[in-house]
Amino acid sequence: MQQFIDKYDFAGKKAIVRVDFNVPLNENFEITDDTRIRAAVPTLKKVLEKGGALIIMSHLGRPKGVSDKFSLKHIVGRVSERLGVPVQFAEDCMKAESQVAALKPGEVLLLENLRFYAEEEGKPRGLAEDATDEQKDAAKKAVKASQKEFVKKLASYADCYINDAFGTAHRAHASTALIAAYFPDDKMFGYLMEGEIKAIDNVLHKAQRPLTAIIGGSKVSSKLAVLKNLVGKVDNLIIGGGMGYTFIKAQGGHIGDSLHEDELMPDALAIIEEARRKGVKLALSVETLAANEFSNDADTKLVSPYEIPEGWEGMDAGPASLAAWEEIIMNSKTVLWNGPVGVFEMEKFAGGTLKIAELLAEATKKGAYTLVGGGDSVAAVTRMGYADKVSYVSTGGGAMLEAIEGKNLPGIAAIRE
Ligand code: AMP
Repeated sequence: MQQFIDKYDFAGKKAIVRVDFNVPLNENFEITDDTRIRAAVPTLKKVLEKGGALIIMSHLGRPKGVSDKFSLKHIVGRVSERLGVPVQFAEDCMKAESQVAALKPGEVLLLENLRFYAEEEGKPRGLAEDATDEQKDAAKKAVKASQKEFVKKLASYADCYINDAFGTAHRAHASTALIAAYFPDDKMFGYLMEGEIKAIDNVLHKAQRPLTAIIGGSKVSSKLAVLKNLVGKVDNLIIGGGMGYTFIKAQGGHIGDSLHEDELMPDALAIIEEARRKGVKLALSVETLAANEFSNDADTKLVSPYEIPEGWEGMDAGPASLAAWEEIIMNSKTVLWNGPVGVFEMEKFAGGTLKIAELLAEATKKGAYTLVGGGDSVAAVTRMGYADKVSYVSTGGGAMLEAIEGKNLPGIAAIRE
């Protein structure tokens, strides 16, 4: 049965906590952004305050085996600083028994990168390029078999399990999902996970109406499932960014050299039709800031996205698009935003995305519930200094996207079931 961190009695217990300490490091192995460490602190401190001991586990990067570059030893100092207590380090997550046994209430042990073992992800490694299907199958079976021992060993370290790694909640890995089975009555979400789950719920299941989703980014293909799920749920669907041009071309528009995916035009038309059938207002761009090359030094002009000249490409939302979207956003009670509405990495084409960030902050002030999810939109609100002026900024790009697709995330299901 699922427990709750605020009610659970941690006194004298050892808690194994899956966090997402996958932080960016520079060439000197210094942390360049410790947001993810800070995000886990409330949960970790709670366990310590309530008299528990902590065994912290995480992955870092995508190592193919043991690798100094991806060692979590580089972050021990910062974790200790953020928690305000010393942090011990287990150099091998499978050989931490004696350190775990010696752990007293209030003490903290950080395990080495779980992904030094293929068993964490349960995917075979080191297969020859020309491996046959039988060899691949055998390797898969072997890693799945040894994964059971891996999970069992991690579970043996602790009395209870907390998952606070939303960033990997969409993966059915050893530490994010499988381990929960060893703690049928002692498993729970950390505060970060609780917050993310509540935010998703507020938008997908308990939304105050009107509910508006703003979906931008480069490709329809990467967000097709998101669009399909949302079109059945929202009142307004704003589609901006590069992906909008596939919708416009599918309707017979001339999009010049704008980014688009011809093979997704039937899907775009199906979404337009579904929106019409459901009475959902689909708001595509009505004015585009076009450029004569994909560069911040390009010449620009404002054009209709349906009449972009050859040699020009749509790079950002124009003022008329932003004005139309503003009206929708300001009249919404719930707003979900994922993906930039222009090539916001280039200053000349960042205006639309920054305006959306500003509008979300304004809508929040007016009482709307606003959720920003996905790396680039999160970067935009942060850059504008609006991160604390919207209702919730999600920490998990891929996980948030899969949640918006309507998928049951393995990391969430493992605790609830
Ligand atoms: P995504 O990862 O799918 O959310 O896409 C984010 C990327 O979409 C960013 O790198 C943007 O530069 C890019 N993008 C947004 N609008 C456009 C556009 N009109 N043309 C090309 N790329 C775009």
